[in-house]
Amino acid sequence: MVIFLRNKYSVCPGCSLLCDDIEIEMKGTEIDKANNACIKGVSRIKDTKKLESKIDGNEVNQDEAIFKAAELLQNANNPLIFGLDNSTTEAQLEAIKLAKLISATIDDNSSFCQGPIVNAILKNELKTCTLDDVRDYADVLVFWGADPSNSHPRLNSKYAYYPRGKERQRGWDEDRTAIAIDVRESSSSVLCKDNFYQIPPRSDGELMTALSSAFSGKMPKVSFDIETQRILKLSNILKKAKYGVIFAGLGLTYSQTGIETIKNFLTELNTYSNFHLIPMVGHYNMRGFNQALYNETGYVNRVKFVKNESGNLDIKHGLQYSVLEQLNNKEPDTVLIIGTDPFTSMPHSVAKKLKEVPTIIIDPCETLTEKIADVVIRSAKSGIECGGNAIRIDGTCVELVPIINSGCLCDEHIICKIMEEI
Ligand code: SF4
Repeated sequence: MVIFLRNKYSVCPGCSLLCDDIEIEMKGTEIDKANNACIKGVSRIKDTKKLESKIDGNEVNQDEAIFKAAELLQNANNPLIFGLDNSTTEAQLEAIKLAKLISATIDDNSSFCQGPIVNAILKNELKTCTLDDVRDYADVLVFWGADPSNSHPRLNSKYAYYPRGKERQRGWDEDRTAIAIDVRESSSSVLCKDNFYQIPPRSDGELMTALSSAFSGKMPKVSFDIETQRILKLSNILKKAKYGVIFAGLGLTYSQTGIETIKNFLTELNTYSNFHLIPMVGHYNMRGFNQALYNETGYVNRVKFVKNESGNLDIKHGLQYSVLEQLNNKEPDTVLIIGTDPFTSMPHSVAKKLKEVPTIIIDPCETLTEKIADVVIRSAKSGIECGGNAIRIDGTCVELVPIINSGCLCDEHIICKIMEEI
């Protein structure tokens, strides 16, 4: 029986769209329904299974686990803090304070995905826009190496393709053109019908060069199998766009070694048109982490804090401080993982190196990585069991409103308690 209907909308932390129109229906103290959320969001919101903290696989109370974590971190000479993309901005800021306190390396998942693009956006090197601008003005949408139908399921219904906006009143079939460029067919490419351009892996840069030639009236040439007429058609749609948006997915990011080609392409395109780029970051607050670390250090990830001889902190940055390089080179002597699961997101050859160092996990969910962890501290689920702020895919700050009170500490407070112990 439904006994409580919230008046206030909740925010879904299921992906970086942070949908803020979720109506929660409670059944007693349990969440019964999450109306408006997609399947992915519903499973995230309704999964409030209570799990215990652990030391060496044995269940302990949270304080014991926090004390043990503090002890390990205090004794570490070269600690690594990794994750935080599923934490609130407040927790991210505390983790940066902890990294400074213990002279740690700090990095997140953006280190091996969308970091370079977010970095360029924060430095105003790539033109971007908000999702509200997309809904109100966008007439050409390009899903490049992205499949939002699966990764960000409500992007098209809420902001990009289907909704009417200020200057998009005639409906999606007349007012918007959706294009997909990808190495394989996807749910999103099917939506784009004839405007799906299938290209071989790692040929995104070549297609950009061919399109740039076509913009300036030259005959585009590529080494792969695609009709020249189709490239000319695509270049015409892009050039004539009044307000274009490229949704840059991992397929595009992984095809590049840097982002110079993307930057040059966007600059060239914008001599004819008005295009913006939004990186399809996955975790709900990866942009928040990038922004918080950037504000503190000038870098979005791969940072090490080092105390110099005069007792001040030096900030070091570079590839050698990326989580992949750190683990590959067996640099850290203790690893603190917050809200992420390296055994599902990293190559196994790298993740398995965690078995060789003391590993601490702060996570509300059961993860594969915790099977090798020395300490597991259960935290409250942000956005569901505790509140805070997060930065949406487009850079907009969204307040997360807690739905239930599980009595569990949030990761922000757990990190603060670790610092108090240290
Ligand atoms: S699209 Fe993302 S934020 Fe929106 S309801 Fe689905 S999972 Fe949640």
